[in-house]
Amino acid sequence: MYVILFGAPGAGKGTQAAILAEKTGLVHITTGELFREAIRQETELGKQAKPYYDRGQLVPDQLTIAMLLERLSQGDCARGCLLDGFPRTLEQATALDEALAQEGKAIDKVGYIQVPQDELLRRLSGRWNCRQCGSVYHERFQPPRQAGRCDQCGDELYQREDDKPETARRRLEVYSRQTAPLIDYYRAKGKLVEVDGDKSVEEVAENLLAVVEDP
Ligand code: ADP
Ligand code: AMP
Repeated sequence: MYVILFGAPGAGKGTQAAILAEKTGLVHITTGELFREAIRQETELGKQAKPYYDRGQLVPDQLTIAMLLERLSQGDCARGCLLDGFPRTLEQATALDEALAQEGKAIDKVGYIQVPQDELLRRLSGRWNCRQCGSVYHERFQPPRQAGRCDQCGDELYQREDDKPETARRRLEVYSRQTAPLIDYYRAKGKLVEVDGDKSVEEVAENLLAVVEDP
């Protein structure tokens, strides 16, 4: 089962993917985290991606598609996965469709998590992440038990540079211009299921789980 969690930056894709991964056993693939890791490790890919990442722009399709397809080719994705943050352009979506089709597979569902713009900015400005295990928190909406420490692994939490207001706004503009057109792409294929993301984490998770489990 190949499921895309779709939505603007801050919609809750990562938060929901972690919950769904645990409930379904599907592996969670996030291109944002793959880029952050490559940038941290200063790999060739990281060096190429960094200028785009830092400005809140999309990393070029050629690099992003190659990275994602390489990850998808690994054994743990053979029975499916939860995609978070990919695809973000029409070119990425068609490349993904073609790669899956070559193996007789296809995207099953696209869960579109809808959240109003002012709420997205509130979520991004208060987001804290764990570098070690990738857990996501919010200083008001989902606080860790101990400020600055991850509940899961105890490591230190950090705030992403690209969540600062100016870059967060730019990312939302990039989303509207380059990524939102994919809504029509997947709707036309009959794969898009809209979920109200402006609810509690638990309610959104319940609704998304129903989407994933619906045959
Ligand atoms: P995305 O992966 O779509 O960018 P995240 O999952 O990282 O979004 O969530 C963005 C921020 O919003 C995080 O701080 C997270 O704790 C918080 N958050 C996620 N879902 C909800 C929700 N349903 N209600 C309130 N805050 C949420
Ligand atoms: P995210 O963690 O999903 O918010 O992504 C953080 C940043 O990583 C984005 O602002 C882009 O610079 C880059 N990125 C992540 N996924 C993609 C993608 N599918 N296409 C292009 N750039 C991406």
